[in-house]
Amino acid sequence: QRRERNISSHVRNRLPEDAVGLLREAGNLAQELGWDAYAVGGFVRDILLGRPNLDIDLVVEGDGIAFASALVERLGGRIKAHKKFKTAVCILDDGRRVDVATARLEYYQYPAALPTVELSSIKMDLYRRDFTMNALALRLNPGKFGQLVDFFGAERDIKNKQIRVLHSLSFVEDPTRILRAVRFEQRFGFRIGGQTMRLVKNALQLNLFEKLSGSRITHELRLVMDEENPLNVVERMNDLGLLKAIHPLLKLTHERVRVLQELEKVFNWYKLLYLDDQADCWKLYFLGLTMGTKREELSKVADRLNFSRREERELLALRDQIGDALMRLMGWQEGKTPLSRLYSILTPIPLEGVLFLMARSRKESIRRNISQYLARLRYVSIDVSGDDLIEMGIPEGPVFTLILDKILAARVDGNVGSREEQLAMALRLKKQFKSEWMNPV
Ligand code: ATP
Repeated sequence: QRRERNISSHVRNRLPEDAVGLLREAGNLAQELGWDAYAVGGFVRDILLGRPNLDIDLVVEGDGIAFASALVERLGGRIKAHKKFKTAVCILDDGRRVDVATARLEYYQYPAALPTVELSSIKMDLYRRDFTMNALALRLNPGKFGQLVDFFGAERDIKNKQIRVLHSLSFVEDPTRILRAVRFEQRFGFRIGGQTMRLVKNALQLNLFEKLSGSRITHELRLVMDEENPLNVVERMNDLGLLKAIHPLLKLTHERVRVLQELEKVFNWYKLLYLDDQADCWKLYFLGLTMGTKREELSKVADRLNFSRREERELLALRDQIGDALMRLMGWQEGKTPLSRLYSILTPIPLEGVLFLMARSRKESIRRNISQYLARLRYVSIDVSGDDLIEMGIPEGPVFTLILDKILAARVDGNVGSREEQLAMALRLKKQFKSEWMNPV
């Protein structure tokens, strides 16, 4: 008989009180309904690792959807159910979310004369998962609350910092698990275990990635890009031959590594400062990973990854804009080139492009000025409008934009201040450009 360690003191000490309350509530409810409920997966792993994680995944040996309905009735909230998968998401009134899945009792018919066995359904549920460390369950029913259910030696693997699959066909079943292994390895400072590493190599030799759909690869790659240190993951993928298995053009070069390193810094800096204005970081890393490729080559990689036509077009356009801006920034001279020049180069470019330029530039002064653009310049506005110009007797037309742009540039360079000063400048420009609207070409 397997002994189950009780980790309820970890549960109490490492989770916020309201999360513990929710787990207890779920356990009590399951007991009343005559079922067993467990917290499972990454949530349990992270309790053992002492890392904060509030994505609660529950498995119920019973009817998951009925359980979820009863839970939100008790706690306040609503559910979204997927009948086909017998799963539900509880969205509580206070904003918390809890995923609930159903574990079914399954019967295994052994060959020949051996008897049919009934396997505990939680065991089957856990057996379908990716790695031992993600195949832990925590009992929630009262009396057993906090007991760790560990069928596959997960605690030992976590202690030894090892990533291990549950069976030798795991990567054949789902090759994206290889990408997950590398991602978890770098996130937790773990190592893929010896036998599991042999299975990785074997899977690569069998070209299992070729059969994998672009969308599934892209989904996993995006999760990589969302990690705190994606470059470590990308480098390990490169060393293991995973990048080139996805597409031969995705190999790391010195220059790509340099830019990816800078991107990581720039991106983390940006995230910290501008929490509410987020950039699509995967686009940046994708551009970094494919830097130096030809247009058609980039399209081929985008096709392999099943990007939509629109996404591909946007990426190509972004790359062109970045290339164009790099050319225009070449003659930059610190202290001499006016900031309004930088402003006019950067304003047409989406945020991702600006961040990429910052990472890509080797000149310290350009990086500093781009950061000034992001912090301040991009918010500069003027207090003169088209109506003001009409009042001055300037007819609507191209001259309008010209004058407003000039005032904006002067604001960016700090050469003009109050609305009065701006209006005076408009008057001066009116005289200067008069001949142009009087004699249009
Ligand atoms: P994270 O901290 O990145 O959210 P997680 O372990 O919670 O990590 P999810 O991607 O949210 O990961 O998946 C939840 C659980 O589902 C995992 O813990 C794992 O047990 C299981 N799982 C996810 N993807 C797979 C897969 N490809 N094959 C098998 N099991 C998987």
